[in-house]
Amino acid sequence: MNTKRTSLIMAAGLALLISFPASAAEGAPAPCGDGMVRFSHEDNGYSVCVPAGWQRRARGTEVVWSPDQGLDLVFSFQTKVVQPRDVSAPLVGYLLRKKATLHVSSSGALKYHLDGVDGVGLVKHQHRYGLLIYTQCSQPGKACNDLVRTAIDVARTVHLDPGSDARPYDQWKVRNIGGLELRGPSGSPAAKDLDWLAAEYAKGHEKLLTALGAPPAKEPLCCYFYRSEDENFGYTRRGSGFNIAGGAGEVHSLFAARNDRQSTGHEMTHAITNRVWGEPAEALLGEGIAVAQDLSGIDHDARARKAITNIEPDLTLASMLGDAWFRHDMEVSYAVSGSVVKFLLAQGTTDKVKALYQAPDFKAALQKHFGWSLKELEKRWRWAIRADPAL
Ligand SMILES: [Zn+2]
Repeated sequence: MNTKRTSLIMAAGLALLISFPASAAEGAPAPCGDGMVRFSHEDNGYSVCVPAGWQRRARGTEVVWSPDQGLDLVFSFQTKVVQPRDVSAPLVGYLLRKKATLHVSSSGALKYHLDGVDGVGLVKHQHRYGLLIYTQCSQPGKACNDLVRTAIDVARTVHLDPGSDARPYDQWKVRNIGGLELRGPSGSPAAKDLDWLAAEYAKGHEKLLTALGAPPAKEPLCCYFYRSEDENFGYTRRGSGFNIAGGAGEVHSLFAARNDRQSTGHEMTHAITNRVWGEPAEALLGEGIAVAQDLSGIDHDARARKAITNIEPDLTLASMLGDAWFRHDMEVSYAVSGSVVKFLLAQGTTDKVKALYQAPDFKAALQKHFGWSLKELEKRWRWAIRADPAL
């Protein structure tokens, strides 16, 4: 293929995208030009003009558009992304593992060659989400260049609507306190109550670091508060709280009022355990520790007892391991996980629970660190929370 030509097209495309002001993405989307039709992805909340007549198909979470075999235009949507280059990071990681020839710019735009396939990727990023549009071409050079040109045209029409009140995070009201940075959009309940939130979160953060045996982070843990699920979605494309692992860590959660908000501890616990323990091997432990340490004062044993009495009387802990965890009623899986981890913390040490959290084989680790089989754990835990065994 004509590398020089593609590089020029790529450079022109990048220049266009870089000069494309963020505010242009707000308001109503522009009408599509000749031969293009607007495609809206409802779940991810973006729309974009694509060439009329191209075929669309799904590939995992990606959407692929093609005019012909060997010519693909791929849309890959990412959440929990802080920097533009985080949007292309999963693809870049894949290409590096496959030993592709690869160039990535600081904006996350990329150009690659892998096993007879050439492509470029362009990034549109906003707040904490973004869209990567990349080409996959195994046809002769001219067809690839045309595809890249189309990708550039398409990328310019991307519309990511954050909602009418959305402002960049650096314009939010901010308060720093003891290793935390708290932020709320101006005029929001959180921004008006930032002093109370700062005191509440500082106290909670201190408690969690002690409980989890974690050293303070070098960078502050940033906590973002949204007044509603709609606002949360506008900024993050998620409807409720979450954390972004790695680096400094970020916690995003809902705050409508002091008595109408997500718990102080749940997402902070995720952020701290992700930083010092890594990713959990089992959702039972990952969610369980966050529920057990949520600082809400809620009696999770009572919740679990109710859940396994009224909702899933046949539940066994064996069905709480691996992907099966996600097939339960959410109320059941969260309540039971929180209650089980609370029990493990009471019976063992934080280090033993940490070992379970990290263990690829939960049953083997349970035997090693607690001396119990899964059935024994279940019996003891049910006895402790006064729930009849379904054994
Ligand atoms: Zn959680």
